[in-house]
Amino acid sequence: MGLVKTIKNGNKMMNLFNTPILGSEKVKMGNSVFYMMVEDLSLKVNRHRTNDSIIPTKVCGNCGIKKSVDYFYSDSYSNDGYHLRCKCCNDKINK
Ligand SMILES: [Zn+2]
Repeated sequence: MGLVKTIKNGNKMMNLFNTPILGSEKVKMGNSVFYMMVEDLSLKVNRHRTNDSIIPTKVCGNCGIKKSVDYFYSDSYSNDGYHLRCKCCNDKINK
């Protein structure tokens, strides 16, 4: 359950899951069905000021992938200063 395959192509990261996750796109490859999330790794979160948080990485509450906090929006209400979901998931869910 979860992430089954990761394909990196330049700045594009294709993450394939075997369970539907929010914001994912259903794709068929051969006889298998995957749920795909495409992330652009060049799109880091722009912050106006340096975040006080000392954590370098965070596990996304939606896709479950551990990422650099560069890919999480700031959230002053959260304990660690970052949003529960990564930027990629967040942007896709809000679309
Ligand atoms: Zn995510």
